[in-house]
Amino acid sequence: MKKLFIFVIIGVVLWLVLPKQPTLSWGFYGHKRINRMAIFTLPPEMVTFYKQHIEFITNHAVDPDKRRYGVKGEAERHYIDIDHYGEHAFDSVPKFWKAAVAKYTEDTLRAYGIVPWQIEKHYNKLVNAFKDENLDLILKYSTELGHYVADAHVPLHTTENYNGQLTNQKGIHGFWESRIPEIKANDYDYFVGRAKYIDSPIKTVWKVVYDSHQAVDSVLKFEALLNKQYPSDQKYSYENRGNQIVKVYSEGYTNAYDLLIKGQVERRMRESIIVVGSMWYTAWVNSGKPNLNKLGSKEISDSLKFQMQKEEELYLQQKNKIVKGHADDE
Ligand SMILES: [Zn+2]
Repeated sequence: MKKLFIFVIIGVVLWLVLPKQPTLSWGFYGHKRINRMAIFTLPPEMVTFYKQHIEFITNHAVDPDKRRYGVKGEAERHYIDIDHYGEHAFDSVPKFWKAAVAKYTEDTLRAYGIVPWQIEKHYNKLVNAFKDENLDLILKYSTELGHYVADAHVPLHTTENYNGQLTNQKGIHGFWESRIPEIKANDYDYFVGRAKYIDSPIKTVWKVVYDSHQAVDSVLKFEALLNKQYPSDQKYSYENRGNQIVKVYSEGYTNAYDLLIKGQVERRMRESIIVVGSMWYTAWVNSGKPNLNKLGSKEISDSLKFQMQKEEELYLQQKNKIVKGHADDE
């Protein structure tokens, strides 16, 4: 008993003094899984090419999060605090970037997050990459578009109370999007059907944001409820991660919460996969359906590899820096 007590004390001290992992949307695990599974929604004309590059599309799914630390202007691309714009925000905020800038100014939009417009921008970049039959850019923009689309599916990416900091639920961001997938996502059902043609990418994105925002209430409400009922000494546990002992939500607490929200995380993850695949497919159709098999034997260029290596180095240097904009220690 005494031993356990000492262990817990050491754990708490280490947790307090060691740098904590910052909030990363969908966690590394979720983003990689979403991009990877989206490939299997694609039609035969696309799937061979995407499968050839499956490791790239999987492994670089988290690049935009890594870039938050070194690149100014990156952080706000991953979310939108739609509740900042009042009770009727979805009617008030213009769907298109130019109209939104005219109404609120670019500075304001950036201050509260721009994920819907970032997705549209990346979608357009992907259309152009397909038109140019540019292998590097097709892969880069497909991968990054997948990231931003997945982020827009996370309820807490649509609210000012993104980490429960306004309702005394600090930590819920990572709990919902990292801890739950970490424990549960191996059992999720990833058969989501085929990618569909999207008539209006920007309207689809706004629908995604709307659905995410509708879910915010239950994300918070059920955690507050569980927190009241659950034995407080069993809410957290300690795990060994590499050479660190970290405090995490216990498996019991995580499972109990997942039951209360009725598999909401899995549903949002499945939605993400189908929308990512559908965005890639739509960009390809709208670019004139280039023959991707022609690109099959080509390799990613050295300059893209070099650029990515530089970004990785920058990330490793800066990853413990606190970044403004949905950072979990704010
Ligand atoms: Zn992100």
